[in-house]
Amino acid sequence: MENLIQAAYFLTALLFILGLKRMSSPGSARSGILWAGWAMLLATLATFLWPEMQNFALMVIALAIGTVVAWVAAKRVAMTDMPQMVAIYNGMGGGAAAAIAAVELLRGDFANSGLMALAGLGALIGSISFSGSLVAFAKLQGLMSTRPILFPFQRIFNLLVLFAAAAVGGYLLRDDSTYLIGLFFLLAVAFGLLMTLPIGGGDMPVVISLYNAFTGLAVGFEGFAIGNTALIVAGTVVGAAGTLLTLLMARAMNRSLASVLMGGFGVEQASGEVKGSLKPIDLEDAAVMLGYASKVIFVPGYGMALAQAQHKLRELADVLESKGVEVRYAIHPVAGRMPGHMNVLLAEAGVAYEKLYDLEDINPEFPNTDVSVVIGANDVVNPAARRKGSPLYGMPILEVDQAKNAIVVKRGQGKGFAGVENELFYADNTRMLYGDAQDALGRLVQALKKL
Ligand code: NDP
Repeated sequence: MENLIQAAYFLTALLFILGLKRMSSPGSARSGILWAGWAMLLATLATFLWPEMQNFALMVIALAIGTVVAWVAAKRVAMTDMPQMVAIYNGMGGGAAAAIAAVELLRGDFANSGLMALAGLGALIGSISFSGSLVAFAKLQGLMSTRPILFPFQRIFNLLVLFAAAAVGGYLLRDDSTYLIGLFFLLAVAFGLLMTLPIGGGDMPVVISLYNAFTGLAVGFEGFAIGNTALIVAGTVVGAAGTLLTLLMARAMNRSLASVLMGGFGVEQASGEVKGSLKPIDLEDAAVMLGYASKVIFVPGYGMALAQAQHKLRELADVLESKGVEVRYAIHPVAGRMPGHMNVLLAEAGVAYEKLYDLEDINPEFPNTDVSVVIGANDVVNPAARRKGSPLYGMPILEVDQAKNAIVVKRGQGKGFAGVENELFYADNTRMLYGDAQDALGRLVQALKKL
C-alpha cells in the first residue's frame, strides 16, 4: 500500500510542476490550474489510504465544509476582489501548516530534536502567514483602513516580538509544556499581525505573494516533520514560485522588498509641480479622432477593472477594426492590483492574446501611434517615473506621452495608487474623456457607429 501512496504522491508532484509550467502562458494557464487541481485531489485521496489513518468521519466532514465554502465563494467572487480571495485562502494554508505543527509539538517526539525544530520553524512561518494574510484580507475587503497603521518605535517593537517568538520556540526543545507552546503560537500570530499593519492596502498584493511563499515554506517544513513527500514537494514549489513572484512584482513597481515590508508607503503624498491644464474632449470629437486614426493603442489600468469595462473596450476595438484601424493593447506588468490582472480581464472579454503587447515590445510603437487611449490607468503611464525624487522614480512606464495624441478615460481628478499627480494628463496632446470607463466606452462605441 505504501508504494501505491508514494506513486500517487510522485504523480502529484509531476502534475504540480507541469501545471505550474502551463500557468506561465495565458493560453495554457487555465488547463495548468486544472492539472494542479487534479493533483491536489489525487494527493488528498492517496492520503486516506495510510493504514494509520483515523477519524475518517471528522476528516470527511471538514473536507465537505471546506469544499462547499470554497466552491460557492469562488463562483461568487468578482475579479476585482480576487486579491483578497487569494489572501484568505493563503492564510488558511499557513494556518493549516501551523495546525499540523501544533499537533506535532503537543505530541512532543522530542527525541528527534531535528524534526521538532523543523516543525517549530514551520509553525512560526505558518502562523505569521496566517495572521498576516487575515490582515491583508481585512484591508483589501474594506473591513479595516487600507492606510498604513504606524506607531512609535514600531520596527523595534515588532523585532522584539519576533525574537521573543523565536526564543520561546527554541526553548520548546528543552521544555515542551503546553503553556509554552501556546505562548509560542501567540507570539508568532501577533508578529504576523504587527508585520502587516504598517503596510498600505496598495502594497498588499506583494505582501500576499510573500505570505504565499511563507505558506509554501511552512508546508514544506511540516512535510519533513511528518515525513510526507507530497507536502514537501508542494510546499517547495509554492515557496519557490511565491518568492519569484514577490521579487518580480516588487521589481516591476521599482520598490525593494524591504521598502514594501517596512511599510508607510502612501502616507506622504508627493505634491509634484505640474504645469498646464486638463483639457476635456467631448464624445463626438473623441469618436472622430479614433475613427480616422490608422493606429490605436489601448492602455488599460485599475480603473478598467473597477468599472468592469473590458467588454466595452473589446466592442470599441471591434468597431475600430471594422473601420480599418489597427488596434493593439499595451499591458504593464503591474497595471491593476494583481499580476496578470489586465490579461485575465481582457481574455474574459475575448481579446486575442496576440493583440496584447508587453511593455518592452509596445513602447517603441508609441511614436508611430495616432491615438493612445488610456482606460483607468494612471501610475503605469506617469512620466514622473523618469524624474528623480518622485515616489514612482525608476518604474518602467508605458510611454503614452510619446504618442501623437492621447485620450484618457477616467472619472475625475482621482490620483493613482502612488498618489502622484500625472503630467501626462496636462500635456498639450492629451484630452480627458471624463466618466465611468464602462459608460464612457459604451457611449464612444455608439458615437463611432454613427460616424
Ligand atoms: P492606478 O491605481 O494608478 O490608477 C487608477 C485610475 O483609475 C485612477 O486614477 C482613477 O481615477 C481611475 N478610475 C477609478 N475608477 C474608475 C472608473 N470606474 N472608470 C474610469 N476610471 C476609473 O492604476 P494603474 O493600473 O495605472 O497602476 C496600478 C498601480 O497599482 C501601480 O502603482 C502599481 O505599482 C500598483 N500595484 C499593482 C499591483 C499589481 O500586481 N498589479 C500590486 C500592488 C500595487 P478617477 O478616480 O479620477 O476615476
